[in-house]
Amino acid sequence: MQDKIWLSSPHMGENEFAYVKEAFDTNWIAPLGPHVDGFESDIANYLGGGVHVAALSSGTAALHLALIILGVQAGDEVICQSMTFSASANPIAYQGATPVFVDSESRTWNMSPDLLEEAIKDRISKGRKPKAIIVVHLYGMPAEMDKIMAIADKYTIPVVEDAAEALGSSYKGQPLGTFGAMSILSFNGNKIITTSGGGALVSSNDTWIKEARFLATQARDAAPHYQHSKIGYNYRMSNICAGIGRGQMEVLPSRVEKRRANYKFYKQTFADYKQLQFDVEPNSDFYSNRWLSTILVNNETENGISREDIRHALEKQNIESRPLWKPMHLQPVFANAPFYGDGTSERLFEKGLCLPSGSNLTNSDLERVVEAIEACLKVKQEV
Ligand SMILES: *Cc1c(COP(=O)(O)O)cnc(C)c1O
Repeated sequence: MQDKIWLSSPHMGENEFAYVKEAFDTNWIAPLGPHVDGFESDIANYLGGGVHVAALSSGTAALHLALIILGVQAGDEVICQSMTFSASANPIAYQGATPVFVDSESRTWNMSPDLLEEAIKDRISKGRKPKAIIVVHLYGMPAEMDKIMAIADKYTIPVVEDAAEALGSSYKGQPLGTFGAMSILSFNGNKIITTSGGGALVSSNDTWIKEARFLATQARDAAPHYQHSKIGYNYRMSNICAGIGRGQMEVLPSRVEKRRANYKFYKQTFADYKQLQFDVEPNSDFYSNRWLSTILVNNETENGISREDIRHALEKQNIESRPLWKPMHLQPVFANAPFYGDGTSERLFEKGLCLPSGSNLTNSDLERVVEAIEACLKVKQEV
């Protein structure tokens, strides 16, 4: 069996280990320390626009704190893109609130502005004005931010940008993660850069970021003893993880470049296969980090080869691939949540496949992926 080719595996640069060693040498082995401060300012400088950053234990924790700070409580409703990873929606449930799911549009695969407005109007007419809107930039592709922000402003509902997959992407030249009232990033092991596990909350509101740091360290009041007037959390990032993050921030631009090159390679290589369709940046306003390269497999045309045929063919060659995110409104755990949709995300889920996309893939890895897919398409053709 040939070596496993992963969907998206960690890719360390040259200096991560030196930062971690420095943490050991100075005994900063704690959920605070100079690397945490340094990592926060590295991210803030990269994003620009005067944002403030709290480094946390995960992207999920960041989203949870965002909702707490926005005052989301039991019984409230929060609008969330349906087509996403469950971590976008779970923090709504942590607060005892109800997610209201909104479908995607077919250009960006992200939240449909039209359906968003329909959902807001309908919830308001029921006396249930949503407390927040969670918009996601799937696979690094920017959502329609102008339209979504205009609707959010019209109804004065804060936007929380889930940019977990989109560090390095931009919309109209502005980095994703700087549009929302608050935004979250993830540094999980499979993301474009990783701290082995971690996340960040981003906002131009420094008071909120200070509040997030306070809540993330058990909400300790200023007193010599341990005193608490709020419920706290243990959500801070460790100085060790932040050290890895500092090294990863140095290589982020090259990681974006390589992931975009992976996408370009797949797109050019499969240009003649009409049944394979690629998501494209709608115009030059949209710049995707191409966290994952994805294809839609149209089995009604050509020779009836399905997404699952291709996934199995890759699996046989020890190559990992994965269907697109299964929409939240189809998940058993959210079966009772309201949903506003037109079938777009269901169609994408049925046909879509994420291909190996790591920044550490070699040319021969990419060739192996292509060979396996081409063999699958050809075998079926002969039947
Ligand atoms: C990875 C991811 C998250 C959660 O981040 P963690 O750091 O794993 O908690 C949230 N939303 C989306 C869309 C993600 O892909």
